[in-house]
Amino acid sequence: MSGTILVSGGAGYIGSHTVLALRERGRDVLVLDDLSEGHADALLGARLAKGSMLDREFVRGVFQKERIAAVFHFAARCYVGESVTDPGQYYRHNVVGTMNLLDAMRETGVKRFVLSSTCATYGEPERIPITEDLPQKPINPYGVTKLIDEWMLRDYHRAHGIESVALRYFNAAGADPQARIGEDHEPETHLIPLVVQVAQGRREKVTVFGDDYPTLDGTCIRDYVHVTDLAEAHVLALEAMEKATVGVRAYNLGNAAGTSVLEVIRTVERVSGKRVNFVVGARRPGDPPRLVGSSARILAELGWKPRFGDIETIVQTAWRWHERRPDGYGDRRPAR
Ligand code: UDP
Repeated sequence: MSGTILVSGGAGYIGSHTVLALRERGRDVLVLDDLSEGHADALLGARLAKGSMLDREFVRGVFQKERIAAVFHFAARCYVGESVTDPGQYYRHNVVGTMNLLDAMRETGVKRFVLSSTCATYGEPERIPITEDLPQKPINPYGVTKLIDEWMLRDYHRAHGIESVALRYFNAAGADPQARIGEDHEPETHLIPLVVQVAQGRREKVTVFGDDYPTLDGTCIRDYVHVTDLAEAHVLALEAMEKATVGVRAYNLGNAAGTSVLEVIRTVERVSGKRVNFVVGARRPGDPPRLVGSSARILAELGWKPRFGDIETIVQTAWRWHERRPDGYGDRRPAR
């Protein structure tokens, strides 16, 4: 139980909710973040080592100074579209960055690693809901770089005994139920915050990316999973590694419940009591029609059960956060 949990990207959306979950359990946390996309206020006072994962000497120095017990690795680039137009950035941050962390672990004997992975590693799945044994055939550089991370974990385990759990998230959404922290990206591209901003009157309309998919209402179906439930899964993964040898494992984190884009819009309308103005536009390249994940494996092995699983609750917590902090953390930087 002793030692510090190093959280790369702990000032970001999912990272900050996980830092909060760790601290609420009395864990000692050190965030490694360059604040290029994260927010200092999202740390809620957690300790920060400010710098880039791409700076090998900086990363090495942190591992030499601190007594690190485990690494949670969130810092990454995570936009599918951008990964297609600027793949180099994704290979640099998501592959070289991960390797720098793993190498520093190897040098200092740290053996426990939890990776933020993604359902994008599956590409266009043959079956729904997606189980972990389906082939991983990513269709964009974002998914490819995260799959390479998973391969690296396998190889670093074999060669150096580093144990790991890769958590393959479906669509992270919602906010801390007490609205202390939440989602704040610049520019915002994710569906739920965009729809909420339209309901708040801060954005004129949202564009539905295609209504001619082979789904019930023609719009894409995704599996939205609450960010606090994701955070909880990280804590369970850590506890599992502390109790027993885990080797190299991977788990899906979804609700096995699909929600279409139009259903998200309706839910935001219901929760907010406001009308949401939308137009139907073209499909977004790289969007599979349906992504729904089975989390049966993590339920069976680690006992993970989403507490905020239904879309209504997810949207309610997002709405509360955006109402409380309409400008997010208020530290917006111009787009990259
Ligand atoms: N989406 C949309 N309009 C938007 C943003 C997203 O119709 O302005 C759709 C997108 O095509 C996908 C779903 O909403 O089917 C979720 O997209 P998001 O970008 O939130 O997450 P992703 O699935 O890319 O991780």
